Amino acid sequence: MTIPRRKSKVIHIGNVTIGGGAPIVVQSMTNTDTRNIEATVHQINELKEVGCEIIRVAVPDMEAANAITRIKRNIHIPLVADIHFDYRLALAVIKAGVDALRINPGNIGEPERIKAVVIAAKEREIPIRIGLNAGSLAQDFHPEMSTAERMVAAAMEEVRLLESLDFDLIKISLKAFDVPTTITAYCDIANRVDYPLHVGITESGTPRTGLIRSSVGIGTLLYLGIGDTIRVSLTAHPREEVFAGYEILKSLNLREHGPVLVSCPTCGRTEVDLISIAEAVEKELIKIKKPVRVAVMGCAVNGPGEARDADIGIACGKGKGILFKKGEKIAIIPEADLVNALMKEIAKL
Ligand code: SF4
Repeated sequence: MTIPRRKSKVIHIGNVTIGGGAPIVVQSMTNTDTRNIEATVHQINELKEVGCEIIRVAVPDMEAANAITRIKRNIHIPLVADIHFDYRLALAVIKAGVDALRINPGNIGEPERIKAVVIAAKEREIPIRIGLNAGSLAQDFHPEMSTAERMVAAAMEEVRLLESLDFDLIKISLKAFDVPTTITAYCDIANRVDYPLHVGITESGTPRTGLIRSSVGIGTLLYLGIGDTIRVSLTAHPREEVFAGYEILKSLNLREHGPVLVSCPTCGRTEVDLISIAEAVEKELIKIKKPVRVAVMGCAVNGPGEARDADIGIACGKGKGILFKKGEKIAIIPEADLVNALMKEIAKL
């Protein structure tokens, strides 16, 4: 099934196309000190290896802003600078060659400062993400409204401000920790503007809980056709965010990226150590880049069906498993050799 997507305006961040039906882009953010150029470059290159397509770095001071030129020179994915409060940092990173800015114009200050940033961004055709978080709304901003309404109203003020400066290379995000609030805010703004939307659940937590919260929030929005780029914010190494981003997109058939693993939950019929086998297979699959479907099933009830539907699959019995390839039964393998046999067949594909 293909999910119809909201029609959004196209922008480009470096060589990556966003919006207008382009593939949904997976982003992350470094957690190194941006002033530590070597560590930041290393992490960005590591994230690129696992599929990160756009990376954002925090720019808290001028030393970090000055690091951008050298970081940029040593990486191969577009770089977004995250700026708060000080418009001079935005001007410095634009000059340093950054590919996009994430700002909250509301905390940049006087209109003249915002104007200076917008003029500089326009000259170099650098998009600006209006990145609004529920937690950063001013307390006296429309207290009569719901949080979602306040987020949309605040974002629309920023949009109008940028448009009044004849700037339209805009992307918007409206993130909250509360999933229904986030979904409501995105649905509302999606009906008001056609700018591309970056979606995510902010501060969603550790992998154990944050993955679920993010999957529910981002997944619901994507199912509604909303979202041109995503970031799964996790209290973890950012590579986990990238893995999670692709898994969400793969589960909605919105992107292909590496293998898909089908494995059964195990039950009283399982007669092999299927959990260990599935975990071992999953670990091996991380190394595979091709979109191959692999099934690891515990018995003869659903096993052969799922295994046959996969490119490669095993359906286990007592101490052994039947190996299927493209629907054909090709061997019976002892339990101890199942992972190796499966991986050998995947390699042949
Ligand atoms: Fe149980 Fe078999 Fe289903 Fe696995 S595939 S959960 S072993 S019935």
